[in-house]
Amino acid sequence: MKIFMSVDMEGIAGISHKEHTARDGKEHERARELMTDEASAAVEGALDAGAEEVVVGDSHGTMRNIIPERLHKDAVLITGSPKHLSMMEGVDENCAGVFLVGYHARMGVHGVLSHTYDSRVVYNLKLNGEFVGEAGINAMVAGHFNVPILMVTGDKAAVEDNKKILGDFEGVAVKEALTRYAVKGVHPEKACEMIREGAKRAIDRKNEFKPFLVEKPIRIEVGFIQSGMADMAEIVPGSKRIDDRTISYAGEDGIEVFKAFRALITLGETVL
Ligand SMILES: [Zn+2]
Repeated sequence: MKIFMSVDMEGIAGISHKEHTARDGKEHERARELMTDEASAAVEGALDAGAEEVVVGDSHGTMRNIIPERLHKDAVLITGSPKHLSMMEGVDENCAGVFLVGYHARMGVHGVLSHTYDSRVVYNLKLNGEFVGEAGINAMVAGHFNVPILMVTGDKAAVEDNKKILGDFEGVAVKEALTRYAVKGVHPEKACEMIREGAKRAIDRKNEFKPFLVEKPIRIEVGFIQSGMADMAEIVPGSKRIDDRTISYAGEDGIEVFKAFRALITLGETVL
C-alpha cells in the first residue's frame, strides 16, 4: 500500500505568523522543525497501519522546508520546486490514499493564515461553481487518479470547511484560529501524537472515503485581487474573462485544468 502526503506549513501546531512561514522569517527555522516532525508522525501512523511506501511532498512556498535528515527515515521525500503538479507532485494511480498535513483554510475563511495558493494574487477560487481552497483543488488532482483524501490535519477551520467541500475524511485539528494571526492549540508533541493516531484511523477507515470526483467539463473561476492580474491571466489560451477580475477555464481533464489554474496565477504574479 502506497500513501502520498502533501505537507503545508500554515496548519502546523504552534504556527501563526509569516515570521514562521516566510523563507526569511525570524522563526522559520523552528517552523521547519515543527513541520518535519508532524510529517514524520503521519508517516509513522501510516506505516503502523500497513503502508509499505510513503511519499512525502513538501508543499509550502519554496517546497524546501522539510529537513531531510530529520524526517522519518522510511519516508521518500519530494523536495524543491517547480513541480508540474505543485503541491500534489507524487500522487499517482498506485496510491491507496492521500494525507493533507498542515493545511490551512481557503482565502476569505476565518482561519489562521488563510489563503489559496498565493495570498497576494488569489481572491477566491471556484470549482464547478463552488468555492474551494488548496485542499479542494488538490483533491481534484487526487480524484483524477481515483485516489481519495483519507486525512486532513491543520487548523479547525481548514478541517471543518473542507469536510463541507470534500465529504468525510479523518480530520485532525491541532489548533483553532482566534484571528488570522493568532491561534489556540495543543503542544507540538501532542499534535504529533494526534496526527499519528489520525493517520492510523484514516487507513483503517480508508474504504469509507471516496475520491473527490468533479463533474466534466471541469470549470474553474479564479478571482484575482486586482484587475491587472486578470489582464495577464487572460493570455492563457482557452481562458475567458468573466468580469473585471475573474477568469474562467474549462476542460475535460483534471490535470489540464489544474495546470491552467497554475498558469493563471503565475501570470497574475507577474504584475505584483
Ligand atoms: Zn498553503
